[in-house]
Amino acid sequence: VRSLVRKLSDNNWEIPKGHIPNMRVPGRLFVSEKLLEGIEPGTIDQIANVATLPGIQKYSMAMPDAHLGYGFAIGGVAAFDVEEGVISPGGVGFDINCGVRLIRTNLQKEDVVPHIKRLTDELFSNVPSGVGSKSRFKASDKELDSAFLEGAKWAVDAGYGVEADVEHCEGNGFLEGADTSHVSSKARNRGKPQLGTLGSGNHFLEVQYVDEIYDPEVASAFGLEEGQVTVMVHCGSRGAGHQICTDHLKELSQAVKRYGIEIPDKQLACAPAQSKEAQNYFKAMLCAANYAWANRQMITHWTRESFEKIFGRDADDMEMSLLYDVAHNVAKLEEHSIEGRKKEVYVHRKGATRAFPAGHPEVPSAYRDVGQPVLIPGSMGTPSFILCGSTESMDVSFGSACHGAGRVMSRAHAKKEFHGQSIKEDLEAHGITVRATHPSVIAEEAPGVYKSSSEVVNVVHELGIARKVARVIPLGVAKG
Ligand code: 5GP
Ligand code: MN
Ligand code: MN
Repeated sequence: VRSLVRKLSDNNWEIPKGHIPNMRVPGRLFVSEKLLEGIEPGTIDQIANVATLPGIQKYSMAMPDAHLGYGFAIGGVAAFDVEEGVISPGGVGFDINCGVRLIRTNLQKEDVVPHIKRLTDELFSNVPSGVGSKSRFKASDKELDSAFLEGAKWAVDAGYGVEADVEHCEGNGFLEGADTSHVSSKARNRGKPQLGTLGSGNHFLEVQYVDEIYDPEVASAFGLEEGQVTVMVHCGSRGAGHQICTDHLKELSQAVKRYGIEIPDKQLACAPAQSKEAQNYFKAMLCAANYAWANRQMITHWTRESFEKIFGRDADDMEMSLLYDVAHNVAKLEEHSIEGRKKEVYVHRKGATRAFPAGHPEVPSAYRDVGQPVLIPGSMGTPSFILCGSTESMDVSFGSACHGAGRVMSRAHAKKEFHGQSIKEDLEAHGITVRATHPSVIAEEAPGVYKSSSEVVNVVHELGIARKVARVIPLGVAKG
């Protein structure tokens, strides 16, 4: 890969415009020397492919957790002009608004460790997991519409959480402009029984403790301190989002030809941003995004109930408040400053987290002075990180940072390489309890299938797009 990129500065590599024909802008890959060695040439090609799309602004980017994805690389960020540009489902991904939230508690590691097995069992049984898993809640048509249109707010109004939860979500836990008339009945039927479920094995519900604080000032604004127990939730829009993506990809694969847009890869199906086809996808995508926020909100409620049962105390008494909730698979209409001019763009973040700096009006008032919390999961056996959006993100990455450690090994390969039961025992020996629907899930999700979360996070920290605030270590993990 070294020969395919040109070093601009530490952690910043250019994929020159000549990499493939018709690139409108260069590519940018944000990785360290070491992480570059693990990047597949195919990922570089995917970054370059995106650079050929009409209306792309500045450059086609990938974060340090980058790896191969559908059309766009996972870890990809691209912004398109509202008029000249396109909207592409591949730039969002199948799991629309897959995202992460972090719940604080006032419990200390010592309070939780003696009960971790029971607590993990309780979480595992209260929050259904597995690919086709069903919730104990089945949405009516009306409830499903509300989830699609109002996101986390609907869930809170229905009794799953408190008002403050909504204020601590990206975009207050919903995006405006959703329109259910572009959601198929197949997507609706998949969505009804799945609100409040985790889904497949990369998704999880994890009890953790804070083991290191890097920035005491910001940590205190985030309500974090050493030894404190936190809970991380990672999941998305389940079958509903997947179906919405599938349905509209079909439409857009036709549309892209009709509009005469030349794409180097079929998976980059797209349409002009203001076309009916692109807007229909966008409005349906927003439904899925809102559904995902409702989903994470219901899981939060059942997480609180699980803690209440195990510790015999009120969730309020344990101060189980939401630190933040971020999307990492979404396209959004945002204002950015490009060549000194403010303009509206469709920012596609696919396996990338928004990372707005201090002072940005979209950062909740509680964090306005420090910046947006950025939540970066590691793996079930390695640290996860809490960062804070920083000024450089607006210049460098359209206000974005990485979304995780990023996979380096396929699931199929992992099942050959690792043995679920022995990984489980190994984690157990390190004080980490894991519950999964099947040992093969543990093999597929072994810490070794992911890059080093510390190395990935150091890149965004050094680039100054998001700064390290705290590190958390897993204690108990309910895997999807
Ligand atoms: P994705 O959204 O791409 O599926 O995953 C996001 C990130 O979550 C992965 O890149 C990986 O770093 C992280 N991750 C996957 N499983 C776990 C887990 O069980 N616990 C934690 N803390 N992180 C995980
Ligand atoms: Mn997902
Ligand atoms: Mn995800």
